[in-house]
Amino acid sequence: MFDVAVIGAGPGGATASRYLAKNGLKVCMIDKDHFPRDKPCGGGFSEGLLDEFPYLRKREEEFLKGVAKVGVLHSPNRKIVLRGTVDMAVTLRTDVDNVLFESAIEEGAEPLVGTRAKSVRFHDEYVEVVVEGTDSIKARVIIGADGVSSMVARETGLNKRWPSSMITACRVAEVPAKYHEIVARYSENLDYHFYANLGGLPGYGWIFPKRDTINIGLGIVGTHAQGLPRVFNAFVHHLKMEDLLMKNADVSGAKGALVPTGGPLSKSYIDRCILLGDSAGMVSPLTGGGIAYAMRAAKHATVVLTKALEKDDLRSTALNEYEQLWRREFGNEFNDQLLAQKIFTSPFTNLLFEIGSRDTKIQHMVSEAMAESSDAGIDMKRLILRTLYVCLRASFGL
Ligand SMILES: Cc1cc2nc3c(=O)[nH]c(=O)nc-3n(C[C@H](O)[C@H](O)[C@H](O)COP(=O)(O)OP(=O)(O)OC[C@H]3O[C@@H](n4cnc5c(N)ncnc54)[C@H](O)[C@@H]3O)c2cc1C
Repeated sequence: MFDVAVIGAGPGGATASRYLAKNGLKVCMIDKDHFPRDKPCGGGFSEGLLDEFPYLRKREEEFLKGVAKVGVLHSPNRKIVLRGTVDMAVTLRTDVDNVLFESAIEEGAEPLVGTRAKSVRFHDEYVEVVVEGTDSIKARVIIGADGVSSMVARETGLNKRWPSSMITACRVAEVPAKYHEIVARYSENLDYHFYANLGGLPGYGWIFPKRDTINIGLGIVGTHAQGLPRVFNAFVHHLKMEDLLMKNADVSGAKGALVPTGGPLSKSYIDRCILLGDSAGMVSPLTGGGIAYAMRAAKHATVVLTKALEKDDLRSTALNEYEQLWRREFGNEFNDQLLAQKIFTSPFTNLLFEIGSRDTKIQHMVSEAMAESSDAGIDMKRLILRTLYVCLRASFGL
């Protein structure tokens, strides 16, 4: 019997597996894929994350593909451009996820890969994870880190299904490019670009230049997602016309994927089970970024589960502390991001860009928020006050 079965070995599951194993617990880390494996993603996160997880910093040369220093934000009507400084690390998920996966194994987590977990059965003293092709895994407690379409969330009733308004459908391509082609278009600062509400639909397009690839993507809120392939093709065409993408750029490898952007589930635990990362909706509704949240939640899960296993109390009353901890650290950020998402997908977005173009502070705040390079997330109160101040200043002709 394992102490913990972790279902999903992405950033959330691998981080939890690593810390739990480091604490001397017997951990089974289950993933349907073999590693290294790709995961459709922009691959951007705050560079500061590498210092929160120093074992990543030590191996950064294996996955870090540069640090974007400038954000360039385009208004929906393409007439206004905002610019700000950022610190956004860019990576390929194949590489960084593999480093996380290996780090968990180094600490003693036992991998079970290429094996899909099909269902979970709760017993008085343990949980049984029914897996494809081999005997079921028994563990005293489980972690559901199995991503946006989480089987664990579904089976436990914590989330039967995301409503389409709480999900963003994406299309993303990692376009191979020579470094000189990248620098010519995005400078050595690896300027990242963000396009608000492409095709008049709620969501955004992005370009994350990296050392040997250019990551191009588009996300549209699920209720409007039927327009996704058409708008993605138009986006690629536009970038080629603007020479932000080489004329011969190959986007044939573009992949579709979902990300939960409606804020976290109201509850992320039950008896003998914790959810983290995408499975619990821990993703910025504004940017779709969730790597950092998944990893931070994993740390909290480790603290609470280690204690609960020691006391042999895995009831929801004991696991409730997990939810308190992650909500205290970053739960409030989701409220601001949800508000920002509503404002930035509203008909007033062009006007807001117009106001922002008159003020470097606003440009800096918004660029940082979109690159998630500010530790505080997006501070909507500050942004709204600053916007009012800029409007007042303009109305007095200052
Ligand atoms: C197009 C796109 C672009 C994105 N860009 C960014 C970005 O730039 N920055 C950022 O921070 N976030 C980004 N995100 C979000 C980010 O990908 C997720 O928030 C992050 O991967 C969450 O990590 P996780 O560990 O919770 O889940 P995942 O990374 O999804 O990992 C889940 C793992 O579970 C495994 N699994 C699933 N089901 C089962 C099963 N039944 N049995 C066994 N294994 C299973 C999967 O194989 C996978 O390895 C993006 C998402 C999308 C879709």
